[in-house]
Amino acid sequence: MCIFCRIANGELPASVVYEDAHTIAFLDIQPFTPGHVLVIPKQHAASLGNLSPEEAGYVMRASQIVAVALKKSGLMCEGVNFWLSDGKAAGQEVDHIHMHVFPRFPGDGFTPPTVSVEKVKQPGRAQLVQQAKMIEEAIRLVSGHFSTSDRVV
Ligand code: 5GP
Ligand code: ZN
Repeated sequence: MCIFCRIANGELPASVVYEDAHTIAFLDIQPFTPGHVLVIPKQHAASLGNLSPEEAGYVMRASQIVAVALKKSGLMCEGVNFWLSDGKAAGQEVDHIHMHVFPRFPGDGFTPPTVSVEKVKQPGRAQLVQQAKMIEEAIRLVSGHFSTSDRVV
């Protein structure tokens, strides 16, 4: 069983801040900023795509609650970052999907990873059209799996 499943089961200690039937949220042991929370689904899933749309939604709902609470908590918190690394290449280290929700304030010392403006190669319209087509076609392929009644596009 993975470490986050063991935390969710109460087998490993964690500073839990929120729990419901589907999710649990606890403090990260290596916080980016004070009050850095990890929100996880109780159901093990290595990738966000392995969760049902409903379970993924519960993670977002819990993250919303945590973010709103952080601003009222008395901790330094003027803004909040949500960060989810899906896959090793994206920096995911723990193989149980988790949303980082952490307070931000001027001078908090956290530097978001950026690509320097000089290195950004602005794609032409044709490239954007081609990329959008590739993604849109892929969405059509997977949309059965993720279909919900409230799709608007
Ligand atoms: P990732 O790099 O996978 O997006 O983030 C994993 C996060 O889990 C890291 O920020 C790391 O500090 C945190 N973490 C790893 N092991 C534990 C643990 O045993 N307990 C808690 N609370 N956080 C952990
Ligand atoms: Zn797990």
